Amino acid sequence: MAILKVARMGHPVLRQQCRPIDPEKITGDEVQRLVRDMFETMIEYNGVGLAAPQVHQPVRLAIAGGETDQDGRPRFRVLINPEITVLDEETKLGMYEGCLSIPGLRGWVERPARIRVKAYNEKGQRQEFVLDGFPAVVTQHECDHLDGVLYVDRITDTKRFAFEEEAERFLDLADDDVGDSED
Ligand code: ZN
Repeated sequence: MAILKVARMGHPVLRQQCRPIDPEKITGDEVQRLVRDMFETMIEYNGVGLAAPQVHQPVRLAIAGGETDQDGRPRFRVLINPEITVLDEETKLGMYEGCLSIPGLRGWVERPARIRVKAYNEKGQRQEFVLDGFPAVVTQHECDHLDGVLYVDRITDTKRFAFEEEAERFLDLADDDVGDSED
């Protein structure tokens, strides 16, 4: 396993349309190694999610967290070639998002709070599930990376874009206690 270098905003890999992964190759060495290395990298940097282009691999693979399992432990899903359908256009969830590719900054973004996700998992199995609230936000943030979109593109009020330390002091980051996380 290896901790991978994280691409920062400005690197063109973060602005590419990522290519799908051949489902037949998901269980192969190359994809399996990338999944393991991405987990190790995400944990090292305390991320709640990570997308492959953030580690310089322009393929449609992301890890998204924000959920807990039945024992209360953090649950992460591997999403390969994910497709998102917004189930409720009206209800939005706003929070200060962060990103491992944009270190030290936070910006207020509002996203649909309820989505359906279809994706392959790391075993090459087709999955379909509905997410509500924070995990729905994390998953949208990660899937945006696969289309070369960063959360800064979705900030509508730049007055709510700030350095993390100032945001903690002057903006109510705790507005939403799940907003304190980086993807
Ligand atoms: Zn991110």
